[in-house]
This record gives sequence, structure tokens and C-alpha cells, in this order.
Amino acid sequence: MLKIVRVMAGADPNFEQHLEGVQAVFRKAFSFYPAYAEKIAEYAAGHFPKDCEVIILAAIDAKGAVIGFTVTFYFVDLKAAYVDYIASDPDRSARGIGGALYEMMRDDVRKRGARRLFLDALPDDPALNFHPGLIPDNKRRMAFYERLGARPIIGTAYEKTVTPANLGDPNMLLCDAMGDEKPMSRRFAKSVIERVISTKTGLGPDDEPLKGLLASIKDDPVKIRAPLYPAPPPRSYPSPATPIDIVITADEAPSIEHSPFRGYYERPARVSAIRRALEGAPLMLHRAENAGLAPIEAVHDKRMIAFLKETAEKIAPKRILYPEIFPLRHADRLPQNWEMRAGYFCIDTSTPLTSAVYPAARRSVDAAISGARLIEAGKSKLVYAVVRPPGHHAERRVFGGFCYFNNAAIAANHLSKKGKVAVLDIDHHHGNGTQDIFYERADVLTVSIHGHPESSYPFFAGFEDERGAGDGLGFNRNYPIKPGVDDAGYLSVLGRALRRIEKFAPAFLVVSFGADIMKGDPTGAFFVTADGMRRIGAEIGALKVPTLIVQEGGYNLANLRRGVRAFIFAAAGAKSA
Ligand SMILES: [Zn+2]
Repeated sequence: MLKIVRVMAGADPNFEQHLEGVQAVFRKAFSFYPAYAEKIAEYAAGHFPKDCEVIILAAIDAKGAVIGFTVTFYFVDLKAAYVDYIASDPDRSARGIGGALYEMMRDDVRKRGARRLFLDALPDDPALNFHPGLIPDNKRRMAFYERLGARPIIGTAYEKTVTPANLGDPNMLLCDAMGDEKPMSRRFAKSVIERVISTKTGLGPDDEPLKGLLASIKDDPVKIRAPLYPAPPPRSYPSPATPIDIVITADEAPSIEHSPFRGYYERPARVSAIRRALEGAPLMLHRAENAGLAPIEAVHDKRMIAFLKETAEKIAPKRILYPEIFPLRHADRLPQNWEMRAGYFCIDTSTPLTSAVYPAARRSVDAAISGARLIEAGKSKLVYAVVRPPGHHAERRVFGGFCYFNNAAIAANHLSKKGKVAVLDIDHHHGNGTQDIFYERADVLTVSIHGHPESSYPFFAGFEDERGAGDGLGFNRNYPIKPGVDDAGYLSVLGRALRRIEKFAPAFLVVSFGADIMKGDPTGAFFVTADGMRRIGAEIGALKVPTLIVQEGGYNLANLRRGVRAFIFAAAGAKSA
């Protein structure tokens, strides 16, 4: 799982290693300006320019390597931030790290109080460009920022002014209004531009060329260029003929806050992205009824449930607790200290505990069980439970991976009283929790397709030779896939998994659905496209088994919008056809 750390002497336990990693990525991405690597070290040591705080964030992969970074100036008095550098490791750029880093950096400065974010980018306008050969790359970059929310300020001399900072290659100045619709005043724009240039070059407002540049800012409010790169229109997938049954709790349940310096991807914006994915679709919304504790207790260890409940009662509002001590060698000794129990029940250090966790996790279960009831009563052939938090990493007695209660497993266990159940997990990460819960059972078949645990979370489970035990021997199947798989590769593995499910002849199917298998997911390594998602949905729908789809992961918001739509429409369409 990817993490973000602030690289700052005294605040980061692996400071030296992370600083070196940032410098190495910098040298790879910006080989023309080696001297800046030393500047990064100065900033990281706390030597800031005047009136400015420098925030260096690094993205760290599961093995601890730095794979991207940002260097951002925050001008507290102006409530404005300026991105001096942002880069992901050029060797790993296909993984959507740039966009994720940008969003995380923006969230970070927003939390500090920033109202607007600025950055430089080389012009995409041939009239402004000294190097016509760079235009295609510059357009790509500008489109990337435009989709993230940043567009160039126009009508000033910024992109024509040569300063010691741009080394003779003037950039355009982009502004990300961070959701603020208000126009930007000339006064504010001047203060920001003056500060940016003086921070980077030491020039004062009376020194040329800064003086000339400031004089060129005449519009009030300043003009921001209209969008030039509209996102490709969503492919119009044929809407299913009958409404899709939906149970959604994700946006009314209390929101679980994550610390930005831990696992950071399971966030509320995911739900808005899913809502947008379903816009205009025929939907039948169902209430998530309170399912009570019984279905949870039928699957999870009572002590783990009690711990989560106790956490909600004991933890201070706004506090975020992460496990610290993992008493692995003395599993028979439950720590007396409540806080230290976190590591007794949690498998990793990126799953937060807050006062919202227990009620939110309970609502996810409510939605999954309500969906299961519609299926078992024969009222629906396909139900989509849009839940947050997800569940498939939660095992019988431990939780983790942003999951607390295993929504899909709890629903599958509920359905198993009425007939055989197959659980198909197509999230990018192995469904270790679901596997653990049904490992010794023959009435619930568990099948998971996922990133190979050699290189993917959770690392300790998901290997092919985990086939079940006791009565369950032969009823757990893992299909680990190496990084970089495309649509065709994925669909061929899916075909094998579906044949296994057909042979089992289940009465019900539960799908743990993750959009993190799509190209560009910050936690994934697969290259599945939106059309691939459509084909996966269609194949699952074509099984004609009453199906409950439970939302698990998927952390690239654009992918969630496109992937969920493609997948759910196709699954529902094929089911009703
Ligand atoms: Zn996942």
C-alpha cells in the first residue's frame, strides 16, 4: 500500500533514506538542474526561504522506496501555496502516482489553510513556445493539470518574462482554485506572483523583470483560461433496461478520517465519484435496514467486535489512532491497555481508528445484509451495495487494509443458510479476510483474482497453493496475476475463475468489487481499461446467478467514475437480458 510521508528532519524516522529517495527521483526526472537536489536537502532540514514554509511530501511504495515527491511553498499570510516541483519516478509513471500525489499535496495545503494553489507549466500554445517539439508533451501536461483543477492565468506577461527562476524558458502560471468559485482579485494575484518570484530568485518588486511583470497584471479580476481539454465524454454504455437495485450507505455513514501521512486513499471523495458514475442510470434505491449485531457475530470474533465498539466510546473526537504494538508471539494474551489492543486486532499500520469507525463499519454491514435480503427473497437478480468502509481484508479475528467488518463475507454467510454461495473477489488486492472466514467450509466457494502477493498487498496471503482446509479443501481458489496485466490477460483469468464458479453451481454469487484493477490506480499495478470493466461486468452478469455486488477498493477517482459505470451497467444489463 502506498504511503505519503512528510520529509522533514526531526519529524520523519526514516528521514535520511526518504531524503535520498526524493533526491534520486529528482535527478532522474530533472537531470538538467542537479543543483536543486541540494536545495531539497536544505528545505528538508528546515532552512526555509523568507515568509514561506516548504513542505516536501514523498510517496513511498510498499517496499519503502520513494516513487514520487512534491516540493511546495506555503505562504501562510497569503493563504496560498505554490508547487515548486512535483514528479513521480519516470520508471513507474504508468501507475497514476502523479495525480495521486497532486491530490494529496493539495489536501495537505488545504488543511494548513491554503485557499489557492499555484504552479508553473510549460506553455501548450505554439505562439509562446520556444521549442515546438515540446508542444505535444506540454499539451499532455496541461491537460493533466486541467483535469485536476488547475488552469493558466492569462492576460499577464508571466509566460513571456525571463527570470533567473525559469532559466530562460518562461512557463505559464496555473491556478487551482481548490473548489473556490470566487474570481481572483488583481491584488491577490500580484501578491502571489511577487512572492513566488522573490522566493525563487530573491528579486524585489522594484527589480526588473519582476517590476515589469507586476505592471502587466491589469485585469481585475484576473482571467483564467477557459478549459481546453475537456475529459473525453463518458462512453455511452447502453443503460440496463430494468433499474439497478442499489443500497447506498456510504455517504450518510460517519466519515472515517485518515491521517494524510498514512494510507490515504480510502476517502469520502470516492463516494461522490461513484454517485457520478451512476448519474442518469435507472436506479431503484433501497434503504439499508439495521441488521443488528448477529450477522457480524456469526463471522467475526466477539473480542474484535467489542474492541471496535469500545474504541468508538473511548477515543476522543478528531483523534486518529494507529496500532503500534503487534503482540504476535503472545496471541493468548490480550493487552490490558485499550490502545495497545489495536495491534492485537489489526494487521497493518495504515488502518485508522476513530470515533466514526464502528458506526460506519456497522452501516456498511447493514447495506450488505439489506442487499442480501433482496437477493434471497427473489426481489432482485442483482444488487449493488455502495459501502464505505470496504471489508474484504477483515478476517475472522483481525481487521486491516482500510477494512473493519467483512461486508461481503457477512452477506455471503447470511445467504449460505438458503443455498450454496460463491464469493468472487475482483478487487486488485487479495481478499485475505474472506478466504480466512470460509477456509474450512465447502458450502461457500471463495475465488479471488488479484495482484500477486509477491508484489502486492497483503503480501502474506493470496498464493495459488492456498486451496482451503478440512471440509473446505478445494473450495478456495486464488488467481494471482503479475503486474501490468491488460484487458485480454485479465479476462482470460476471469474466464477460468468463472468456470470454477459454474462447476460449483451456487445459488447466490457475492462479488467483492474493486475498481483498483484499472490502469492508473495508485494502489494497483494492472492496466484494465473502462472497456475491460464493461466486459468483466458482462461476463459476471452472464452467469445468471442472483448476485450481490459489494464495493471494496478503487482509489483513482476518474477510474471510479468510468469503471463503476461500465461494470455495473454491463453486469445489470447481462443479468436482465
Ligand atoms: Zn483493493
